[in-house]
Order: sequence, then C-alpha cells, then structure tokens
Amino acid sequence: MTDQMLPRRSILKGALAALASIPVVAVVSRVEAAPAAKLDPNDAQAKSLHYATDTTKVDAKTSPSHKPEQKCANCAQYQGKATDAVAACPIFGGKLVEGNGWCMVWAKKA
Ligand code: SF4
Repeated sequence: MTDQMLPRRSILKGALAALASIPVVAVVSRVEAAPAAKLDPNDAQAKSLHYATDTTKVDAKTSPSHKPEQKCANCAQYQGKATDAVAACPIFGGKLVEGNGWCMVWAKKA
C-alpha cells in the first residue's frame, strides 16, 4: 500500500490526533517545571512528625530522640545536596523542607 492509497479519513484522524496532543504536552511541561511548595510547619502531618524549620530550636521534651547534629541536610530522605538551603522530602509528599530543619523520622544519610 502506498501513501496515496491511504484513505483520506485516516490521514485526517492522524492529523487531528497530533494536533490534540500539543496542548497536553505543553501543560505537562509547565506542571513539571513548577517549583515544589515549601512544607508548612503547621501542616497536620508536619506537626505529627514534629517537623521544625530549625534543628537548634527542637524541643527536647517533646522530641527526645532529637540530637543536635541531626538536620534535614544530613538525612537520608533529603533530596538535595547537603549544601542546599531547601530540598524535597518524600516523607512530606515532595514538599520542600529546610536543610537546617528536622523531624522525628530523621535517618542518617549513608
Ligand atoms: Fe527532614 Fe529527613 Fe524529616 Fe524529611 S525525613 S523532614 S529530610 S529530617
């Protein structure tokens, strides 16, 4: 079968499908480029895991497992470099946490 033998309807369907996909690709690209939101320390999950934006201000009475050297930047969950001021944390759905922050599920980065 040659191109000339393709029914006009098939060609038209293909062209319409290609056109219809362009806006979707553009929207998906914009969504992927959108910066992640910063974790609100007053968020219910943040509070339940005792998230603090500053590890030096963690209350030892309410978070007895906390050690002064523990912070998001040296946690296994921190998605950025140790020098990044903020980075995504999968524990909080990929929201940005402070490199100097802390929460009770902190685990040493290997
Ligand atoms: Fe920070 Fe780790 Fe808690 Fe995420 S899991 S908020 S990186 S201490």
